Amino acid sequence: ALTIRGLSKTFGDRVVLDGLDLDVAAGELVSLLGANGSGKSTALKCVVGLETPSAGVVQIEGAPVERRAAMVFQGIHLVPRRSVLDNVCAGALGRLTWRHSWSTWAVPNDVREEAMACLARVGLADRAHDRTGRLSGGQQQRVAIARALCQRAPVLLADEPVSALDPAAAEQVMTLLRSLTNDGIAVAAVLHQPDLARRHSDRIVGLMHGRIDFTGSPRDVTDDLIGQLYAADRGAA
Ligand code: ATP
Ligand code: MG
Repeated sequence: ALTIRGLSKTFGDRVVLDGLDLDVAAGELVSLLGANGSGKSTALKCVVGLETPSAGVVQIEGAPVERRAAMVFQGIHLVPRRSVLDNVCAGALGRLTWRHSWSTWAVPNDVREEAMACLARVGLADRAHDRTGRLSGGQQQRVAIARALCQRAPVLLADEPVSALDPAAAEQVMTLLRSLTNDGIAVAAVLHQPDLARRHSDRIVGLMHGRIDFTGSPRDVTDDLIGQLYAADRGAA
């Protein structure tokens, strides 16, 4: 589904992405590992358009990405004072209409129903009318995933989705991301937990200095390989 070719990004004279090539197939979960500063977040931002690539091509099913890649973040980025349901409906931005005189979005019934179905999918239908800020971190991350589902994006990017969560909540979120691949969604997740990457991914990609260092199945990506990924970068930094 997702194709990245020759993706480069420089900030001033710092080369952050250096000709990155990466494919994520429909129904595949790819984990991205790499030391701090190796370019993982920048790569995801270039895919969703939060950064502009210096060079290279990013496509989904052979066409420009537009709104067909959804992203969830470590810091979650929901509106805590609004209801859970409102936050999920926001994923359907293209199907809402701005009501000028009310200074608010009008949410058609079908969008509201779809948002409820997305919430059910992440196991939080019963929290639809709670203030989002009342939910735990793990629950909020599942709301963020529901919002991404409501965007109907075939590609979901997750930047350290479980780094702020306790082990049980992290496991739950990873299981959820994994289950989305059964619907044909392509998932790319940046993780700092090699064991989670091993247990939940189809493929693990190691990033070093903005390039692919290795790519392989969880079985092929040994502790040695992962150790080198982090150690080598430390030496250079
Ligand atoms: P981490 O594991 O710490 O999240 P990362 O692999 O996600 O690291 P990036 O956030 O992609 O790393 O950053 C890669 C490099 O690009 C870093 O050296 C960072 O300082 C630099 N960088 C990122 N965004 C900007 C920016 N807007 N302006 C200048 N430099 C930036
Ligand atoms: Mg990052």
